[in-house]
Amino acid sequence: MNSFTITYYSIHIEFQLTFTVIEIEEISTFIDGHSKPLVGSREILQCGYLLKVGYVRDCDEEIELKGICIRVSRPGDPSFESTVVIQKPFPGSVVRGHCPCDGGSTGKCKHVIAILRSVEK
Ligand SMILES: [Zn+2]
Repeated sequence: MNSFTITYYSIHIEFQLTFTVIEIEEISTFIDGHSKPLVGSREILQCGYLLKVGYVRDCDEEIELKGICIRVSRPGDPSFESTVVIQKPFPGSVVRGHCPCDGGSTGKCKHVIAILRSVEK
């Protein structure tokens, strides 16, 4: 059984994950097999740039996750707040992502992928 901590601002909930929210194959499909977001998201997770992950919406059809990520290139600027919607049932499929970073217009940037990978297992 995998466990992970999901935090959103002052809300702090610990989950015992007995199921897979999203599978790596689905993440790979979402980014059309590109490796760049995978490499970038690995760095984000390993370096602890993804400060918080939590859900902002959870209904029968889908769950919306939000992540707060340090802006490494400009540390003084506000953090990125990225969101991603996963369609149920779990393991789900990615509906869409959104991020205010330069590469985030498609919703397939490394920040969005880092959120997905943080709940991958
Ligand atoms: Zn981004």
